[in-house]
Amino acid sequence: MDIYKHPTFDMACEQFDLVADLLQMPQSERERVKFPKRSLTVAVPVRMDSGEVKVFPGYRVQHHLSLGPTKGGMRFHPDVALGEVAALAMWMSWKCALTGLPYGGAKGGVACNPRTMSINEVERVTRRFTQEIISFIGPQIDIPAPDVGTNEQTMAWMMDTYSNQFGHAVSGVVTGKPVDLGGSLGRREATGRGVAFLVGRALDTLGIASSGCTAVVQGYGNVGSVAAQKMSQNGIKVIAVSDADGGLYNPKGIDFEKLDAYIAKHRTVLGFTEAEPISNEEILLLKCDVLAPCALERQITAHNAAKIQCRVLAEGANGPTTPDADVILNERGDVFIIPDILCNAGGVVVSYFEWVQDLQSFFWSEGEVMDKLYRILETAFTQTLNMANQRKLPMRMAALSLGIKRVADAKRQRGLFP
Ligand code: NAD
Repeated sequence: MDIYKHPTFDMACEQFDLVADLLQMPQSERERVKFPKRSLTVAVPVRMDSGEVKVFPGYRVQHHLSLGPTKGGMRFHPDVALGEVAALAMWMSWKCALTGLPYGGAKGGVACNPRTMSINEVERVTRRFTQEIISFIGPQIDIPAPDVGTNEQTMAWMMDTYSNQFGHAVSGVVTGKPVDLGGSLGRREATGRGVAFLVGRALDTLGIASSGCTAVVQGYGNVGSVAAQKMSQNGIKVIAVSDADGGLYNPKGIDFEKLDAYIAKHRTVLGFTEAEPISNEEILLLKCDVLAPCALERQITAHNAAKIQCRVLAEGANGPTTPDADVILNERGDVFIIPDILCNAGGVVVSYFEWVQDLQSFFWSEGEVMDKLYRILETAFTQTLNMANQRKLPMRMAALSLGIKRVADAKRQRGLFP
């Protein structure tokens, strides 16, 4: 499928091929399970504040339709490309299957830079993009959620645009909305809290007490900031964090209250004086117990995998570790990996809860949400660990094989139409 050509898509395919061999999946089934079912590319014309009209490329990929509607984030970032979105949609499929959610994976986005745009420009991009893909999404078709560069406000605009088209409020068309519009309590924090919960389970498995541990978090955005703060509340000292502009290092631990106040004013971690500046490359090599990449794909590569110095690699981001880095880490054998499709699954699990609450117009307390979330993550972690131990597999292969097998089984049971 040449249309998806992209290093991140190659990476997702390489992972899939390894698992298909492991599962001894018949050749005749492989392409059907692997390749995205549908994809849509749109041109999004937007009038900028200057009066100039710019056209941004937008994408939505739905990976498989065998278990329910599709589900996945919308990314606003200059590097968004069809192949990247397709890889992220594939990973969403394996993640939903691993955690037992009735969804196929999807992903989408617009190649734009919200950091250099005004809020009005971002709103116009969001609304026009939603309009362009309106027949491709819906509560029973495909349900977007926030990802890099998008947030609750973006989801509110998407929901409003969709609802205006249909003449009534359709809260179930997106998740990760503001709570006032039918969002779920706990959704904003769900991915980061899930990361911190699974870090705790990994440390337990290794027989390491959280208190006295140190952590490094790359990408202090939605996922990274909540993961860092929750780990800190759990007794882990977070010694370094970063964003796209650079990083901060303080061996005594980062003061999050002061850092958040600084970010609220300056919109970056850069220039915060109560820590030393450090680059995004160096931050990954710091000695720590827990390294949590929570930014973008392909950060841990053959170039730096031999040099990372952590006991637990908690993949808050999607696809932060390349397959050749995996080979090096597996040979080293001293790094416990919580693979992305497990580690950051808290987000889609609570998105599923939000969708269920919207469809029923019946809302749950935050306690109920978190309790149900941790139970699902606990089951997925235990199943993955058991599979890894029984079959002597790396955690990533165990998690992927559980997810991919469920999708393959569903396709086999439904059969080939017509
Ligand atoms: P976000 O936009 O809120 O935050 C991303 C952060 O990463 C920002 O602080 C940004 O400045 C930083 N960043 C960007 N490029 C960087 C680089 N090269 N080095 C260091 N930092 C960099 O996005 P998010 O929602 O927190 O998503 C982060 C990752 O988590 C993505 O891989 C996303 O797909 C994944 N994820 C998000 C969710 C969710 O619920 N938001 C759920 C599952 C997985």
